[in-house]
Amino acid sequence: MTLAYIALGSNLGDPRQQLLDAIDRLAELPDTRLLQRSPLYRTPPWGVLEQPPFVNAVVQVDTALSPHALLDGLLDIERRAGRVRAERNGPRMLDLDLLHVDGVQFDDARLTLPHPRMTERAFVLLPLNDLAPTLQLPGQATVAELLARLDLAGCERLP
Ligand code: ADP
Ligand code: MG
Repeated sequence: MTLAYIALGSNLGDPRQQLLDAIDRLAELPDTRLLQRSPLYRTPPWGVLEQPPFVNAVVQVDTALSPHALLDGLLDIERRAGRVRAERNGPRMLDLDLLHVDGVQFDDARLTLPHPRMTERAFVLLPLNDLAPTLQLPGQATVAELLARLDLAGCERLP
C-alpha cells in the first residue's frame, strides 16, 4: 500500500456538499482506504478572478492502485459530479488533483507527480499542511516551509 494525497475543489452548485460527496466516493475506490481528511477552506478564485469562491480540502489515502489507475478513479468521480471541462482555471463542480504519491516522481502526457503547480497554491498547501506539514516535496522544501512563503489573504477555514 502507498500513501497518496488528493486535492479537492469546487465552486459551483453546493461546493461544500460536492466535496463531502466526493470524499465518500474516494473512500469507495477499489483497494483504497481513506486515512485523513483536512478541514474545508473557502478560498479566493485563482487565475480567472470573476467567479465564485472555491471550497477546498485535501485527503490522505492508502492505496494499492497504480498512480494512473488512481487518476482514472478521480476523473471518473469528477465526471459523475457533472464536471464539464471548459475554460482553464474556470468554474467547476468538482476538481480532483493527485498531489503526491509516496516515492513517485513521474511525468507523461496524462499525469505529472508531484502535481507541478501545488507549491504555489495556498488553496492546496493550506489543507495539505493540516495533514502533512513535514512532507518533503522532491527537490523542494517541506509543505510547512512552502506554505509560509504564500499569501493566505481571503483563505478562511470553514466551521
Ligand atoms: P486543473 O486541475 O489544472 O485545473 P484539469 O482538472 O482540467 O486541470 O486537469 C487536466 C488534466 O491534467 C487531467 O485530465 C489529467 O490528465 C492531467 N493531470 C496531470 N497531472 C495530474 C495530476 N497530478 N493530478 C490530476 N490531473 C493531472
Ligand atoms: Mg484537475
